[in-house]
Amino acid sequence: MINVTKTFLPPQEEYNAILKRAWDKVWITNRGELVLELEQKLKTHLNVPNIIVTTNGTLPLQIAIKALGLTGEIITTPFSYVATTSSIVWEGCTPVFVDIDPKHLTIDETKIEAAITSKTSAILATHVFGNPCAVEEIEAIAEKHNLKVIYDAAHCFGVTYKGKSVFNFGDVSTCSFHATKLFHTGEGGAMFTNDGELHKKLFYHHNFGHKGKDDFYGIGINAKMSELQAAMGLAVLPHLDFIIEKRKAAVSAYKKSLQKDAVQYMHIREAAEWNYSYFPVILHSEKVLDNVLEELNENNIYPRRYFYPSLNTLEYIEKSNMPHSENISKRILCLPLSHDIEFGVIEFISAIINQHSKR
Ligand SMILES: *Cc1c(COP(=O)(O)O)cnc(C)c1O
Repeated sequence: MINVTKTFLPPQEEYNAILKRAWDKVWITNRGELVLELEQKLKTHLNVPNIIVTTNGTLPLQIAIKALGLTGEIITTPFSYVATTSSIVWEGCTPVFVDIDPKHLTIDETKIEAAITSKTSAILATHVFGNPCAVEEIEAIAEKHNLKVIYDAAHCFGVTYKGKSVFNFGDVSTCSFHATKLFHTGEGGAMFTNDGELHKKLFYHHNFGHKGKDDFYGIGINAKMSELQAAMGLAVLPHLDFIIEKRKAAVSAYKKSLQKDAVQYMHIREAAEWNYSYFPVILHSEKVLDNVLEELNENNIYPRRYFYPSLNTLEYIEKSNMPHSENISKRILCLPLSHDIEFGVIEFISAIINQHSKR
Protein backbone atom coordinates (compact mmCIF):
# COMPACT_ATOMS: atom_id res chain seq x y z
CA MET A 1 0.00 0.00 0.00
CA ILE A 2 1.30 3.42 -0.94
CA ASN A 3 -0.07 6.39 1.00
CA VAL A 4 0.19 10.13 0.52
CA THR A 5 3.19 10.03 2.81
CA LYS A 6 5.24 7.51 4.77
CA THR A 7 6.48 8.41 8.21
CA PHE A 8 10.28 8.44 8.46
CA LEU A 9 11.27 6.20 11.35
CA PRO A 10 14.86 6.55 12.55
CA PRO A 11 16.91 3.38 13.14
CA GLN A 12 15.42 1.88 16.30
CA GLU A 13 18.76 1.67 18.10
CA GLU A 14 19.23 5.43 17.66
CA TYR A 15 15.80 6.10 19.16
CA ASN A 16 16.46 3.65 22.01
CA ALA A 17 19.80 5.24 22.87
CA ILE A 18 18.05 8.59 23.36
CA LEU A 19 15.12 7.04 25.25
CA LYS A 20 17.59 5.38 27.63
CA ARG A 21 18.40 8.83 29.02
CA ALA A 22 14.77 9.23 30.10
CA TRP A 23 14.76 5.71 31.59
CA ASP A 24 18.00 6.33 33.50
CA LYS A 25 16.53 9.45 35.06
CA VAL A 26 13.00 8.05 35.40
CA TRP A 27 11.77 11.32 33.91
CA ILE A 28 9.37 11.19 30.98
CA THR A 29 7.63 14.57 30.90
CA ASN A 30 7.46 18.07 32.43
CA ARG A 31 10.17 19.57 30.25
CA GLY A 32 12.96 17.15 30.99
CA GLU A 33 16.39 17.22 29.38
CA LEU A 34 15.21 15.77 26.06
CA VAL A 35 12.61 18.51 25.50
CA LEU A 36 15.16 21.18 26.47
CA GLU A 37 17.76 19.67 24.12
CA LEU A 38 15.25 19.43 21.28
CA GLU A 39 14.29 23.10 21.72
CA GLN A 40 17.96 24.13 21.64
CA LYS A 41 18.69 22.06 18.54
CA LEU A 42 15.59 23.31 16.73
CA LYS A 43 16.43 26.93 17.55
CA THR A 44 19.82 26.47 15.93
CA HIS A 45 18.54 24.37 13.04
CA LEU A 46 15.76 26.80 12.18
CA ASN A 47 17.60 29.95 13.19
CA VAL A 48 14.78 31.38 15.32
CA PRO A 49 15.13 33.38 18.55
CA ASN A 50 12.39 31.54 20.51
CA ILE A 51 10.60 28.22 20.41
CA ILE A 52 8.18 26.36 22.67
CA VAL A 53 7.61 22.75 21.68
CA THR A 54 4.12 21.39 22.31
CA THR A 55 2.22 18.13 22.30
CA ASN A 56 0.61 18.77 18.90
CA GLY A 57 0.21 21.49 16.29
CA THR A 58 -3.39 22.48 17.10
CA LEU A 59 -3.04 23.65 20.71
CA PRO A 60 -0.49 26.31 19.69
CA LEU A 61 -3.15 27.89 17.45
CA GLN A 62 -5.63 27.97 20.32
CA ILE A 63 -3.02 29.24 22.77
CA ALA A 64 -1.94 31.98 20.34
CA ILE A 65 -5.54 33.18 19.99
CA LYS A 66 -5.89 33.18 23.78
CA ALA A 67 -2.52 34.85 24.46
CA LEU A 68 -3.20 37.65 21.97
CA GLY A 69 -6.58 38.25 23.59
CA LEU A 70 -8.42 37.93 20.30
CA THR A 71 -12.18 38.44 20.18
CA GLY A 72 -14.84 38.95 17.52
CA GLU A 73 -13.86 38.19 13.94
CA ILE A 74 -10.67 36.59 12.69
CA ILE A 75 -9.93 36.74 8.97
CA THR A 76 -8.74 33.37 7.71
CA THR A 77 -8.24 31.12 4.71
CA PRO A 78 -10.79 28.53 3.53
CA PHE A 79 -8.01 26.39 2.03
CA SER A 80 -6.26 24.66 4.91
CA TYR A 81 -6.63 21.77 7.30
CA VAL A 82 -9.74 21.98 9.46
CA ALA A 83 -7.68 22.82 12.58
CA THR A 84 -7.11 26.36 11.29
CA THR A 85 -10.85 27.12 11.31
CA SER A 86 -11.88 24.95 14.26
CA SER A 87 -9.31 26.63 16.55
CA ILE A 88 -10.94 30.00 15.86
CA VAL A 89 -14.42 28.65 16.62
CA TRP A 90 -13.15 26.70 19.66
CA GLU A 91 -11.78 29.94 21.12
CA GLY A 92 -15.16 31.63 20.75
CA CYS A 93 -14.24 33.80 17.76
CA THR A 94 -15.88 33.98 14.33
CA PRO A 95 -13.92 32.98 11.23
CA VAL A 96 -14.35 35.37 8.31
CA PHE A 97 -13.08 33.78 5.12
CA VAL A 98 -11.13 35.52 2.39
CA ASP A 99 -10.65 33.54 -0.82
CA ILE A 100 -7.27 32.27 -1.95
CA ASP A 101 -4.99 33.39 -4.71
CA PRO A 102 -5.32 30.45 -7.17
CA LYS A 103 -1.66 30.64 -8.13
CA HIS A 104 -0.06 30.35 -4.70
CA LEU A 105 -3.08 28.75 -2.91
CA THR A 106 -2.55 31.09 0.07
CA ILE A 107 -5.01 33.76 1.27
CA ASP A 108 -5.45 36.49 -1.37
CA GLU A 109 -3.88 39.47 0.37
CA THR A 110 -5.55 41.91 -2.05
CA LYS A 111 -8.98 40.85 -0.73
CA ILE A 112 -8.23 41.09 3.00
CA GLU A 113 -8.97 44.79 3.52
CA ALA A 114 -12.51 44.46 2.11
CA ALA A 115 -13.26 41.84 4.79
CA ILE A 116 -12.15 43.97 7.75
CA THR A 117 -14.93 45.27 10.03
CA SER A 118 -14.97 47.03 13.41
CA LYS A 119 -15.05 43.54 14.99
CA THR A 120 -11.93 42.19 13.26
CA SER A 121 -9.12 41.43 15.70
CA ALA A 122 -6.68 39.37 13.66
CA ILE A 123 -5.65 37.52 10.53
CA LEU A 124 -4.94 33.79 10.83
CA ALA A 125 -3.50 32.51 7.56
CA THR A 126 -1.87 29.26 6.49
CA HIS A 127 1.40 28.94 4.58
CA VAL A 128 -0.25 26.12 2.71
CA PHE A 129 1.95 23.12 1.75
CA GLY A 130 4.88 25.17 3.03
CA ASN A 131 4.28 27.99 0.52
CA PRO A 132 4.58 31.32 2.36
CA CYS A 133 1.69 33.81 2.31
CA ALA A 134 2.38 37.34 1.06
CA VAL A 135 3.85 38.09 4.47
CA GLU A 136 4.99 41.65 3.74
CA GLU A 137 1.64 42.80 2.35
CA ILE A 138 -0.21 41.12 5.23
CA GLU A 139 2.07 42.80 7.75
CA ALA A 140 1.34 46.20 6.19
CA ILE A 141 -2.43 45.60 6.31
CA ALA A 142 -2.22 44.42 9.93
CA GLU A 143 -0.25 47.51 10.93
CA LYS A 144 -2.62 49.86 9.17
CA HIS A 145 -5.70 48.36 10.82
CA ASN A 146 -4.10 47.43 14.14
CA LEU A 147 -4.66 43.69 13.73
CA LYS A 148 -2.68 40.75 15.09
CA VAL A 149 -1.29 38.11 12.74
CA ILE A 150 -1.00 34.38 13.40
CA TYR A 151 0.44 32.01 10.83
CA ASP A 152 -0.55 28.38 10.78
CA ALA A 153 2.86 27.23 9.59
CA ALA A 154 2.12 23.54 10.24
CA HIS A 155 3.77 22.58 6.92
CA CYS A 156 6.75 24.93 7.12
CA PHE A 157 9.59 23.11 8.83
CA GLY A 158 12.76 24.51 7.26
CA VAL A 159 11.00 26.95 4.91
CA THR A 160 12.67 30.35 4.53
CA TYR A 161 11.51 33.63 3.02
CA LYS A 162 14.19 36.09 1.93
CA GLY A 163 16.69 33.92 3.77
CA LYS A 164 14.85 34.05 7.13
CA SER A 165 12.86 31.23 8.72
CA VAL A 166 9.22 31.76 7.82
CA PHE A 167 8.48 31.16 11.53
CA ASN A 168 9.79 34.70 12.13
CA PHE A 169 6.72 36.27 10.52
CA GLY A 170 3.48 37.22 12.25
CA ASP A 171 2.97 37.85 15.96
CA VAL A 172 2.93 34.07 16.43
CA SER A 173 3.72 31.19 14.08
CA THR A 174 2.85 27.59 14.82
CA CYS A 175 4.13 24.29 13.43
CA SER A 176 2.98 20.67 13.56
CA PHE A 177 5.31 17.74 14.22
CA HIS A 178 2.62 15.14 13.50
CA ALA A 179 3.81 11.80 12.07
CA THR A 180 2.56 12.84 8.61
CA LYS A 181 4.60 16.05 8.61
CA LEU A 182 8.11 16.54 7.23
CA PHE A 183 9.79 16.67 10.66
CA HIS A 184 7.92 14.76 13.35
CA THR A 185 7.80 13.67 16.96
CA GLY A 186 4.89 11.22 16.44
CA GLU A 187 2.46 13.82 17.73
CA GLY A 188 3.90 17.24 18.40
CA GLY A 189 4.22 20.85 17.43
CA ALA A 190 5.73 24.19 18.29
CA MET A 191 4.99 27.89 18.59
CA PHE A 192 7.27 30.78 17.71
CA THR A 193 7.29 34.50 18.43
CA ASN A 194 9.98 37.15 18.27
CA ASP A 195 8.35 39.16 21.08
CA GLY A 196 9.92 38.33 24.45
CA GLU A 197 6.85 39.28 26.51
CA LEU A 198 4.49 37.33 24.28
CA HIS A 199 6.88 34.36 24.42
CA LYS A 200 6.54 34.30 28.23
CA LYS A 201 2.78 34.47 27.95
CA LEU A 202 2.64 31.59 25.46
CA PHE A 203 4.95 29.61 27.71
CA TYR A 204 2.80 30.08 30.83
CA HIS A 205 -0.36 29.30 28.89
CA HIS A 206 1.05 25.98 27.64
CA ASN A 207 1.75 24.77 31.19
CA PHE A 208 -1.47 25.42 33.15
CA GLY A 209 -0.41 29.03 33.79
CA HIS A 210 2.30 27.86 36.21
CA LYS A 211 4.76 30.53 37.19
CA GLY A 212 6.76 28.49 39.66
CA LYS A 213 5.35 25.58 41.67
CA ASP A 214 2.55 27.33 43.56
CA ASP A 215 2.29 30.61 41.71
CA PHE A 216 0.12 31.24 38.65
CA TYR A 217 0.39 33.75 35.87
CA GLY A 218 -3.23 33.28 34.88
CA ILE A 219 -5.31 30.73 33.03
CA GLY A 220 -3.51 27.94 31.19
CA ILE A 221 -3.90 24.60 29.51
CA ASN A 222 -1.62 21.58 29.16
CA ALA A 223 0.19 21.53 25.82
CA LYS A 224 3.55 20.24 27.02
CA MET A 225 5.59 17.88 24.85
CA SER A 226 6.72 14.68 26.61
CA GLU A 227 10.24 13.26 26.73
CA LEU A 228 9.05 10.32 24.61
CA GLN A 229 8.00 12.69 21.84
CA ALA A 230 11.19 14.74 22.16
CA ALA A 231 13.28 11.56 21.86
CA MET A 232 11.66 10.86 18.47
CA GLY A 233 12.41 14.42 17.35
CA LEU A 234 16.05 14.14 18.43
CA ALA A 235 16.33 10.86 16.52
CA VAL A 236 14.69 12.20 13.34
CA LEU A 237 16.47 15.57 13.16
CA PRO A 238 19.91 14.26 12.06
CA HIS A 239 18.20 12.57 9.07
CA LEU A 240 16.33 15.62 7.88
CA ASP A 241 18.74 16.61 5.09
CA PHE A 242 18.49 13.07 3.73
CA ILE A 243 14.67 13.16 3.92
CA ILE A 244 14.45 16.47 2.05
CA GLU A 245 17.00 15.37 -0.54
CA LYS A 246 14.96 12.25 -1.34
CA ARG A 247 11.69 14.18 -1.54
CA LYS A 248 13.26 16.77 -3.81
CA ALA A 249 14.39 14.01 -6.18
CA ALA A 250 10.90 12.48 -6.11
CA VAL A 251 9.28 15.84 -6.98
CA SER A 252 11.68 16.23 -9.92
CA ALA A 253 10.79 12.74 -11.10
CA TYR A 254 7.06 13.52 -10.94
CA LYS A 255 7.57 16.73 -12.90
CA LYS A 256 9.48 14.82 -15.55
CA SER A 257 6.85 12.06 -15.81
CA LEU A 258 3.73 14.22 -15.78
CA GLN A 259 2.84 15.65 -19.17
CA LYS A 260 2.96 19.39 -19.47
CA ASP A 261 -0.76 20.02 -19.80
CA ALA A 262 -1.96 17.20 -17.52
CA VAL A 263 -1.85 19.14 -14.25
CA GLN A 264 -1.26 22.58 -12.80
CA TYR A 265 1.23 23.16 -9.99
CA MET A 266 1.20 25.47 -7.01
CA HIS A 267 3.52 28.43 -7.65
CA ILE A 268 6.10 28.74 -4.92
CA ARG A 269 6.32 32.35 -3.76
CA GLU A 270 9.29 34.24 -5.04
CA ALA A 271 12.17 34.56 -2.55
CA ALA A 272 10.94 31.50 -0.67
CA GLU A 273 13.03 28.39 -0.15
CA TRP A 274 10.56 25.49 -0.13
CA ASN A 275 10.76 22.22 1.85
CA TYR A 276 9.08 19.60 -0.41
CA SER A 277 6.55 18.86 2.33
CA TYR A 278 3.73 17.94 -0.10
CA PHE A 279 3.30 17.44 -3.82
CA PRO A 280 -0.09 18.93 -4.76
CA VAL A 281 -1.32 18.75 -8.35
CA ILE A 282 -4.45 20.44 -9.68
CA LEU A 283 -6.38 18.35 -12.21
CA HIS A 284 -8.67 19.58 -15.01
CA SER A 285 -11.90 18.70 -13.20
CA GLU A 286 -13.37 16.81 -10.26
CA LYS A 287 -14.39 14.12 -12.76
CA VAL A 288 -10.76 13.59 -13.76
CA LEU A 289 -9.83 13.52 -10.08
CA ASP A 290 -12.47 10.87 -9.35
CA ASN A 291 -11.24 8.71 -12.21
CA VAL A 292 -7.60 9.08 -11.23
CA LEU A 293 -8.38 8.29 -7.59
CA GLU A 294 -10.41 5.24 -8.50
CA GLU A 295 -7.70 3.74 -10.68
CA LEU A 296 -4.95 4.51 -8.18
CA ASN A 297 -6.97 3.05 -5.30
CA GLU A 298 -7.53 -0.11 -7.34
CA ASN A 299 -3.76 -0.35 -7.45
CA ASN A 300 -3.45 0.18 -3.69
CA ILE A 301 -2.19 3.74 -4.06
CA TYR A 302 -3.81 6.36 -1.85
CA PRO A 303 -3.15 10.01 -2.60
CA ARG A 304 -5.13 12.46 -0.40
CA ARG A 305 -7.63 15.15 -1.26
CA TYR A 306 -5.74 17.92 0.58
CA PHE A 307 -7.53 20.18 1.20
CA TYR A 308 -11.11 19.15 0.74
CA PRO A 309 -13.72 20.35 1.43
CA SER A 310 -13.18 24.09 1.33
CA LEU A 311 -13.50 25.16 5.00
CA ASN A 312 -16.18 27.80 4.33
CA THR A 313 -18.54 24.89 3.54
CA LEU A 314 -18.21 23.23 7.00
CA GLU A 315 -21.61 22.71 8.57
CA TYR A 316 -20.80 24.75 11.69
CA ILE A 317 -19.79 27.79 9.63
CA GLU A 318 -22.04 30.53 8.34
CA LYS A 319 -22.36 30.19 4.55
CA SER A 320 -20.21 32.25 2.21
CA ASN A 321 -18.91 31.75 -1.33
CA MET A 322 -15.22 31.23 -1.92
CA PRO A 323 -15.07 30.44 -5.64
CA HIS A 324 -11.31 29.82 -5.99
CA SER A 325 -10.99 27.75 -2.85
CA GLU A 326 -14.08 25.67 -3.62
CA ASN A 327 -13.04 25.13 -7.21
CA ILE A 328 -9.45 24.15 -6.40
CA SER A 329 -10.35 21.98 -3.41
CA LYS A 330 -12.47 19.84 -5.74
CA ARG A 331 -9.60 19.30 -8.17
CA ILE A 332 -6.46 19.09 -6.05
CA LEU A 333 -4.70 15.91 -5.08
CA CYS A 334 -1.56 15.48 -2.98
CA LEU A 335 0.43 12.71 -4.62
CA PRO A 336 2.41 10.16 -2.61
CA LEU A 337 5.70 11.68 -1.51
CA SER A 338 8.20 10.29 0.98
CA HIS A 339 11.89 9.62 1.57
CA ASP A 340 11.66 6.15 0.01
CA ILE A 341 9.09 6.33 -2.77
CA GLU A 342 10.38 4.43 -5.82
CA PHE A 343 10.76 6.09 -9.20
CA GLY A 344 8.82 3.21 -10.79
CA VAL A 345 5.84 4.08 -8.61
CA ILE A 346 6.13 7.74 -9.54
CA GLU A 347 6.12 6.82 -13.23
CA PHE A 348 3.12 4.52 -12.72
CA ILE A 349 1.10 7.22 -10.91
CA SER A 350 2.08 9.85 -13.49
CA ALA A 351 1.05 7.61 -16.40
CA ILE A 352 -2.44 7.16 -14.91
CA ILE A 353 -2.81 10.92 -14.43
CA ASN A 354 -1.53 11.62 -17.94
CA GLN A 355 -4.01 9.19 -19.43
CA HIS A 356 -7.07 10.48 -17.55
CA SER A 357 -6.13 14.11 -18.27
CA LYS A 358 -6.25 13.68 -22.06
CA ARG A 359 -9.07 15.85 -23.35
C1 LIG B 1 -1.43 19.09 10.56
C2 LIG B 1 -2.04 20.43 10.58
C3 LIG B 1 -2.49 21.04 11.77
C4 LIG B 1 -2.65 20.29 13.06
O1 LIG B 1 -1.52 19.77 13.57
P1 LIG B 1 -1.60 18.55 14.59
O2 LIG B 1 -0.17 18.40 15.01
O3 LIG B 1 -2.13 17.37 13.85
O4 LIG B 1 -2.47 18.97 15.73
C5 LIG B 1 -2.91 22.37 11.73
N1 LIG B 1 -2.94 23.05 10.57
C6 LIG B 1 -2.54 22.49 9.41
C7 LIG B 1 -2.58 23.33 8.17
C8 LIG B 1 -2.11 21.16 9.37
O5 LIG B 1 -1.78 20.59 8.21
